[in-house]
Amino acid sequence: FFIVVEGGDGAGKTTQVDALAEWIRSKGHEVVVTREPGATPIGQRLRTILLDVSTDGLSHRAEALMYAADRAEHVDSVIRPALERGAVVISDRYVDSSVAYQGAGRDLEPVEVARISRWATGGLVPHLTVLLDVSPETARERFTEAPDRLESEPHEFHQRVRAGFLALAAADPARYLVIDAGQDPESVTTAARHRLDHVLPL
Ligand code: C5P
Ligand code: MG
Repeated sequence: FFIVVEGGDGAGKTTQVDALAEWIRSKGHEVVVTREPGATPIGQRLRTILLDVSTDGLSHRAEALMYAADRAEHVDSVIRPALERGAVVISDRYVDSSVAYQGAGRDLEPVEVARISRWATGGLVPHLTVLLDVSPETARERFTEAPDRLESEPHEFHQRVRAGFLALAAADPARYLVIDAGQDPESVTTAARHRLDHVLPL
């Protein structure tokens, strides 16, 4: 079973991924926690480049292809092998981050970005995507881990990213669980568990 947690910077994805993993493990399942970009050795090198030059005029197409390359390696060497042995995989970001950031956020067509990712992943789609939705204002107050990353893009960029995620969820409601991530982390976890309990075949 493949779960993805998506949302903007400061939405609390990492915290919720860890909480969900612990909960699913407590039910006796093997859980593989992973993330994008940078879950593999090659991915780590791509992450270093992407996070370094993201403000410095890297071509937007090149950026999108590097995220896709990171994802292809991630799927082939981490996600598919884990799913094949029956593990539950929880990924902090996946295809939707590319559609939202490189597509809705920048000037690439979201549909084209999605098409590149479909090829990069060999069509692997998560069973469930938990979208942590939060306003850029709240995210900014909360995102103390790397504030420069948020500040490196204008406010409108983060608004387009948020709208991009919400549009993906609206287009496929059965596969998404949209949670108001402006609440305190414990309430977000409770909401996620409550809804996952009905969805997960666990
Ligand atoms: O979630 P994490 O902190 O690992 O993401 C690293 C950064 O990469 C984020 O600040 C996000 O803005 C950026 N990113 C992106 N496009 C993606 C995935 C992440 O711009 N597809
Ligand atoms: Mg994070």
